[in-house]
Amino acid sequence: MNMLAKWGLAALVCAAALPARAEWVKRITDGIMGTRITVELWAEDRAQGEKAIDAVLDEMRHIDETMSTYKPTSEVSQVNAHAAEGPMHISKELFDLLVTAKHYSEITDGAFDITYASVGYMYDFRKHVHPDEAQIAKALPAINYRHVLLDPAHQTVQFSQKGVRIDLGGIAKGYSVDCGIEVLQKLGYTRAFVGAGGDSRIIGDRFGKPWIVGIRDPRKGEGNVIARIPLENAAISTSGDYERFFDEGGVRYHHIIDPHTGHSASKVRSATVIGPYATRTDGLSKTAFVLGPDAAMEIYNRLDDIDAIIVKLDGSIAYSKDIQRALRAPPAADAPAAPPAQ
Ligand code: ADP
Ligand code: MG
Repeated sequence: MNMLAKWGLAALVCAAALPARAEWVKRITDGIMGTRITVELWAEDRAQGEKAIDAVLDEMRHIDETMSTYKPTSEVSQVNAHAAEGPMHISKELFDLLVTAKHYSEITDGAFDITYASVGYMYDFRKHVHPDEAQIAKALPAINYRHVLLDPAHQTVQFSQKGVRIDLGGIAKGYSVDCGIEVLQKLGYTRAFVGAGGDSRIIGDRFGKPWIVGIRDPRKGEGNVIARIPLENAAISTSGDYERFFDEGGVRYHHIIDPHTGHSASKVRSATVIGPYATRTDGLSKTAFVLGPDAAMEIYNRLDDIDAIIVKLDGSIAYSKDIQRALRAPPAADAPAAPPAQ
């Protein structure tokens, strides 16, 4: 068979295998968890695909209702109001996420700490409000993930002292992305992208091509990227000091708080973490801001399933060891050309 006939036949076989109306379905929604949600999937039928996206967004709304500290009725707000009084029974979902959050505190030497909110609640980045030194000094002892006592036998949480507050803003978006992907997988989808703000996860590829996720240049406007990362079956989270911030008196106040000082953590400009789950990459992406590029990279390099790209304060870029190796390696003779940026 000559080549033309062979490829012609292959094209026919592909066309026969794909139902006529199969297509990419994409939706961008603002307002859930205070961020932009993007869902894109390959659907055999557009109406079914739209329904699947509705299901993802419903799941994310439910997580927002449970976890948001902006909603006084949320379960987390109830915990903040009462957990210092004694053990509080909470939902299995919240309990499990608190266990997960504690795990990230432990593996990041306390850089990730949901009790940052004991001081963090006094910042309002939209209104340019920050606590003064006296307020920080008074509230600082309440920051320590060890103050959150979890009892798996009774599924309760208790704060060991007054003044402790938690906020899951550093992990809830990644978690909601994983839940969204799970919704799609249960419905049988095998090619999809779910993103919530800086946290995204991808299943499958784009028919022989990877998905391309851009990492924004932290000192330039949206759309200016320092790298385009080809990904399949992976999650990626970027934390940046440009997300929610204001500058005052030469100081940049932004939304990642150093649990040791109660001040904005300013040891890098941005950190991108790549791994298998968005809960995991979200739980790790704040670390570099608190510990600095070297100590954070040591932690990232110790974790076999994690890659990282850090933009340092001087604008230079540090890569985790597997990415460094990939950048050094000459392309294999049969490697496909780099995919075009999307
Ligand atoms: P995004 O909210 O866009 O996903 P990040 O993943 O960088 O951005 O998370 C920033 C959020 O993490 C903050 O808005 C705050 O809610 C929370 N946070 C801030 N400092 C810490 C910290 N030291 N540990 C855990 N969470 C934190
Ligand atoms: Mg995040």
